[in-house]
Amino acid sequence: MTKSLIELKNVSFQYEHTKVLHNISFSVSEGDFLALLGPNGSGKSTLLKLILGIEKPLTGEVNLFGVSTNSFVNREWIGYVSQKSNAFNSSFPATVEEVVKSGLTKKVGLFKRMPKNSKELVIEALKSVGMEDYLSRNIGQLSGGQQQRVFIARALIAEPKLLILDEPTVGIDHENVQSFYDMLVRLNEEQKKTIILVTHDVDTVSNRISHVACLNQTIHFHGYKKDFDAISNEQLNDWYGHSVRKIH
Ligand code: ADP
Repeated sequence: MTKSLIELKNVSFQYEHTKVLHNISFSVSEGDFLALLGPNGSGKSTLLKLILGIEKPLTGEVNLFGVSTNSFVNREWIGYVSQKSNAFNSSFPATVEEVVKSGLTKKVGLFKRMPKNSKELVIEALKSVGMEDYLSRNIGQLSGGQQQRVFIARALIAEPKLLILDEPTVGIDHENVQSFYDMLVRLNEEQKKTIILVTHDVDTVSNRISHVACLNQTIHFHGYKKDFDAISNEQLNDWYGHSVRKIH
């Protein structure tokens, strides 16, 4: 039986007086490659905050790896790469090696000694994202897509079981998006990482993804990518309240 890594049951949330999430129930199983899709303001970041334990639900339950989020202690099992990670300018004084190595603190603790083989671990993580040739480069000198890969390597070095990527294809040139997805598929299939990819853009939902969840305050759809493909543009417009279209 596949294990449920994330499970939300009847979750609602509001900031002060603004209702943001309503009656959310869905789960992510081990091995899934899920796109969490919703327009700006639909509550995607808020849902991630609940999963990451930064906010608590107003009602309902959030379970991580079968444990309530309140008592979940293995935070290193979840790797999170935020949208803003790659906002470096070219003079930022850190090498790729330093950036990736800093991800080890999540595994070994902030004030503990780095393992002796940390350089090998950095190279291994960079190999997983196809960036091993950039070890000594300054992070600010890389393209947006390359920086995004380095930040995924930084998350991978802590050996997470689940990777959450917030809008990872923003800032990646159109011609490089396919190879970026190929890299994620390898992480999913070969390294058995469960992946949640958050996006506001229907067109970025690649065929390489296994599941889709459509959010707009509540979950309108959660299922296989092939069943998402059968959903009409009219239905999407109905959920999202403005013109959202799938371009085939
Ligand atoms: P998304 O990530 O899909 O763009 P968010 O989760 O960021 O959506 O925001 C959902 C709604 O919650 C928006 O209306 C936003 O203005 C509101 N919101 C987000 N963060 C806060 C906050 N800290 N305080 C009050 N309202 C917020």
